Formats: sequence, C-alpha cells, structure tokens
Amino acid sequence: MSKLENKPESIREVDVLIVGASLSAAAASKRLVDAGYETVAIERYALPRNKPCSGIISPRGHRFLIENFGPLPREVLHDPTSCRGVTFHFRGMLQMPMDFDHGSTPHLNRRNSDHWAIMRSKVEVHDSTCLIDLEDKGTHVEILARRNGEEVRYRARLVIGADGPNSQVVRSLYPGYRKSIKWFMVKQHLHEIIECPLDPEYFHFWFHPELGYYTWSHERNGRQIVGVGYDAEEKKLSLRHRMTIEYLEKHYGVKLKPTEEREGVVNNFGLSLINRYVFGKGNVIVTGQAAGFLNMIAEGMSCALHSGAIAGEAAVESMRRNSDLQSVYRDTIASEVRRCSDQWNPIKILFDRPHEADFREALSKLQGRDKRKVIVEIFRFLYPWGRYNWGRQILMQAVLRELRGYYSPSRWL
Ligand SMILES: Cc1cc2nc3c(=O)[nH]c(=O)nc-3n(C[C@H](O)[C@H](O)[C@H](O)COP(=O)(O)OP(=O)(O)OC[C@H]3O[C@@H](n4cnc5c(N)ncnc54)[C@H](O)[C@@H]3O)c2cc1C
Repeated sequence: MSKLENKPESIREVDVLIVGASLSAAAASKRLVDAGYETVAIERYALPRNKPCSGIISPRGHRFLIENFGPLPREVLHDPTSCRGVTFHFRGMLQMPMDFDHGSTPHLNRRNSDHWAIMRSKVEVHDSTCLIDLEDKGTHVEILARRNGEEVRYRARLVIGADGPNSQVVRSLYPGYRKSIKWFMVKQHLHEIIECPLDPEYFHFWFHPELGYYTWSHERNGRQIVGVGYDAEEKKLSLRHRMTIEYLEKHYGVKLKPTEEREGVVNNFGLSLINRYVFGKGNVIVTGQAAGFLNMIAEGMSCALHSGAIAGEAAVESMRRNSDLQSVYRDTIASEVRRCSDQWNPIKILFDRPHEADFREALSKLQGRDKRKVIVEIFRFLYPWGRYNWGRQILMQAVLRELRGYYSPSRWL
C-alpha cells in the first residue's frame, strides 16, 4: 500500500498547493492569489530560513521584484548593498570586469528577501512542513507532508513544484530521475578579512580548472566568501578550497582568517545548457531550479522568478478555461527556456548579446594577445567538462535553436 492510501482524519483542500516558499514559489503564488485561487505554499524549514547563495540578482530579476512586490526594504540586502558586475579571472592574472546593464544590482540577503517576497505574495504559508510524496489521481492530487513529526495531508486541483534543485516533487513524479543526471557540490566558506584587494563591488569568478568547476569570491557584511564547486562524487572540496585560499594569497595578496562558517549544497548544474528541463506531468508542474533553470555561473534567481510566474499563470489559465495544464505550461514556458538557455549558447554568445553583463564588449576592450589568451583559457576550463558528454549536445541544441528559433520541447521531461 502506498504511503498515500493510508486515509487520514482531515485533509486540507485547496485549488493549488505550491511546494517551497522561495522566489519561484513567491512569483507563482502572486499570480494565483491575485487571480483569487485558494493557494497554500508548504516549506520544509521554519521561516525565515537560510539559503546558501551569493545573492547577486540580475537586473531583470531586480525589475521583477520591484514590479511584483514593491521597492526592496533595506533588511533584504547584504552589505555591500549592490553589485556592479562580474569579473572573470584567468590564469596569468588576466581579468575581465563586466558591468551589469543599467548600473548596479542588489545584493540580496536570501533569508530575508525570500521571506519578504513570499509574504508580499499574500499566499497562505505552512512552514516547517516537508513534502513526503504526492499522487496524481487524475481529477486532483493527493499530497502527504510532515510537520513536527506528524503527517499532514492536502488535496489540490493542481500542484506546483518550486522546491529547488533536490526536488521531492520531481523525485515523486520520476523515481529514476535523481540517478540520471549529474550532481555538483558547491560550498562557500566565510572568512574574516585581514586584507583583500579584490574589488568589493564585483562578483569574482575564476576560470581555473584545477581550483574547481565553479570558483568564486565576493564580500559580504565585512567577511569574504570563498566558494568552490565540483562534481559531487569527488570528495575533495576542502582541498580545493585550501588551494584557492593559497592561490588568492599568492597571486592577489588576499589575506583571510580561517573559515568561520561554511555552507554546502548539491546542485543540478547544466540542465539549461543541454535543454534538459523537467516540467512535470498531469496535474503537477515543476518550476524554478527544480525544473533546471540555472545558468552556468549559477545565476538562478531571475529565471526562478520568471518561470515561477509563468507556472502560476499556467495554473490560473488551466483552471479558468478547464484546459490541459501541461499544454498551457509547456507552450508558455518556452520563452523562459529561450532566455535561460541562450545565455550560455555559444552561437548566441559569439553573435548576439544574451547576457545582462556584456561579455563581447568586455572582450573587445582587451588587446589582441589577451583576447586570444581568454578564448584559449575558456576552452581549457571547459575541457574537463568533456567527460559529461555535454559538448556535442550543447552545439547541437545551439544549431537547432538557430535554425528553428526555439529549443526543442521533445527533450523536456
Ligand atoms: C552557492 C550558490 C550561490 C548562488 N548565487 C547566486 C547568485 O548570486 N545569483 C543568482 O541569481 N542565483 C544564485 N544561485 C542560484 C539560486 O540560489 C537558485 O537558482 C534560486 O534560489 C532558485 O530558486 P527556486 O525558488 O527555484 O528554489 P530554491 O531557492 O532552492 O527554493 C526551494 C525551496 O523549497 C524548499 N523545499 C525543498 N524541498 C522541500 C520539501 N520536500 N518540502 C517543502 N519545501 C521544500 C526549500 O527549503 C526552499 O525554501 C546560487 C546558488 C548557490 C548554491
């Protein structure tokens, strides 16, 4: 007998149940609450909760927050309160600063910003409530959750999975999925600063395969974050962190005290690059990072907000017109797929301007010799990624996108 067949005393019936209470959930909630549908968002942690994230939101995400939730209060920002752009660093001390379009963008404190956004959406939130399983009955979805060790049940016309990279909604819908994709571990260490010549107005990213696949640093509230990311199967992240600390000291003169705090999470990088999104089935749709929206420098807030809003709109449209949820969602989410996958599509990078920090312009400011060095270093950085067999898929998807004008929905789950 499945966990869901054990009939309970009371079931909360709602139009839509959203799993998660982060940014994609807030955006979906806003659309549903504004349209008058009874909606509950469940969140496994007590709110406000922490979220390991650099918190640099792209200008498009910033606009979304203002337009939907109002001006950002001071408590949703870290110090420095804003970020001018991203600096790419290459071996040989070559640096490429790229400013964001239209000026600086906020440096969000995710604990407070996510709580603020979900509260502003006016959705009913049940925190400390963890999704355990769900079952689509055709006419509705049965949901089993747990709060303080007790079972809690819901019955919803529709469910939106907005529960992040390690999504239980996705695991319930597709039991084999977790094993079928690549997982990466990212860990950020916070250090008290002795001396740090890295410009605090920028997010710094290193193209240096020996340090890690994803190596970054920036200032937060008087401390310096040094983060590293690598294949989750490799258990040497602490070693890579130590190497990065030594590298920063040797080459940049960065002097930091030992780690005061560290946070690590697993991530589903790469799905947007190879157009392998997961959008759900039947009466359940998946959005935000749970669906695969995230670009390769782990920028995921803007696409979480926009995809969440599209999921909310699709649910409203489907309930209003009694139309098939999957068709509505898959038609409308295609625009966000283009937006997200284009950002790292090599053809778009070479001949267009897909990102909100202009790589081509920054490259054009370098001297000829340095330009060539940057290109070579990027290829060297990408070389170890070859073992994931993504290269051919990325190129194929990029070419098809050029020919057809869209990314093929046939690759989505
Ligand atoms: C180290 C790091 C740095 C990053 N830096 C940036 C950055 O600078 N800029 C940027 O744009 N993006 C950044 N990102 C990515 C960004 O944080 C995510 O892409 C974004 O938060 C995704 O939003 P989401 O709403 O889809 O999911 P999440 O923010 O992951 O939220 C999912 C929510 O669901 C809840 N949940 C999970 N499982 C359950 C369950 N079973 N039951 C109930 N609730 C559940 C979680 O607790 C969480 O609150 C970074 C990510 C990492 C790891």
